[in-house]
Amino acid sequence: MLKRSIYFDNAATTPLLPEVKGAMTEAMEVFGNPASIHAEGRRSKVFLEECRTRVASVLGLQPAEVFFTSGGTESLQTILLSALRDLNIKRIVTTSLEHPAVLKNLESLRELFSFDLVHAPFDRFGRVDTDALDELLAGQPQTLVVLMHANNETGMLLPVKRVASICQQHNALFLSDTVQTVGKYRIDFSEGIDFAAASAHKFHGPKGVGLLMVKGGAGLKPLILGGGQERTMRSGTENLIGVAGMVKALELADEALEKAMPHVETLRQSMLTGLTNLFDNLKVLTLMEHSLYTILNVGFPVQRVGEMLVNRLDMEGIAVSGGSACASGVNHPSHVLEGLSVEEHYVHARFSFSRLNTMEEVERCLGVMRNIYS
Ligand code: PLP
Repeated sequence: MLKRSIYFDNAATTPLLPEVKGAMTEAMEVFGNPASIHAEGRRSKVFLEECRTRVASVLGLQPAEVFFTSGGTESLQTILLSALRDLNIKRIVTTSLEHPAVLKNLESLRELFSFDLVHAPFDRFGRVDTDALDELLAGQPQTLVVLMHANNETGMLLPVKRVASICQQHNALFLSDTVQTVGKYRIDFSEGIDFAAASAHKFHGPKGVGLLMVKGGAGLKPLILGGGQERTMRSGTENLIGVAGMVKALELADEALEKAMPHVETLRQSMLTGLTNLFDNLKVLTLMEHSLYTILNVGFPVQRVGEMLVNRLDMEGIAVSGGSACASGVNHPSHVLEGLSVEEHYVHARFSFSRLNTMEEVERCLGVMRNIYS
């Protein structure tokens, strides 16, 4: 396996912590099927429900409001489908900057259900215009608002409290994609988020396991039918090992939060200060005071860094993400960069940090950038 010297792509995924691996290894011994009535089965069932209680306790939810899924995409798809099929939703208000797990699903659901799809306006940094949202919701019952808590490419944060209160005022349901923020903030689910999604691999847990959060029941019905697991919300024999890793990762993230937040924010700020001291003409897409403290998206003039900035950093052992989807060898700006009308002739790099990163790594990365920028 390629050994990365510097990993600044934590918005894509995060490394598994040794303690999380330990919890997963222990869970391998709990092998019974939670649906079985014998002792092995009962042991697994108890283990699973203990995990649910621990997740609920970190997130300030009731255990009955937490469902285990295969990740963010499945959780989001479950909510969107059931909102239209079972909750009589006739209108969805969202933006074009959501994750494809929302946008692609909405596209496909339009072929199955008849509903109005309304796009709320946002500014050039991706900040949703909440006054316009208020107007869009007035006198429009049976509406679901779908707005991500933090954008995975720019880090832009949604004022969740304000959006939740607007939704409540107009009796709209509110789904917030919290995949990038669970484990990074103590999100207060009592403030009016009806539905949310999380993915363990974004907070140093395993891949392929996540959370569907449903406040107060809300009448949601399953996407996946079968043996009736997860109190019929999500059939399929439970991923006990994944769940055990996710719970451990979530608890560790929560315990580390007070120290992690200022540490990571300092890394991000130092990277930005370093880059702006070194180079002219940068386009900083992340609005620092309104964004998730782990993400920094910067545009560099293409004539100074070349089209292949991400590849050049990769060759130096530094993992970052670009803002383009490469299809058939042609680089297209991502839907987010396109939606924010970023300037042509700029190459964007997303540096995304975790509490495992260090200031020394930031300094080394700045040194490499200095060599690349010509
Ligand atoms: N939503 C956001 C904001 C994300 O960043 C991601 C993953 O990148 C997802 C949803 C999908 O999560 P998963 O890949 O775990 O299904």
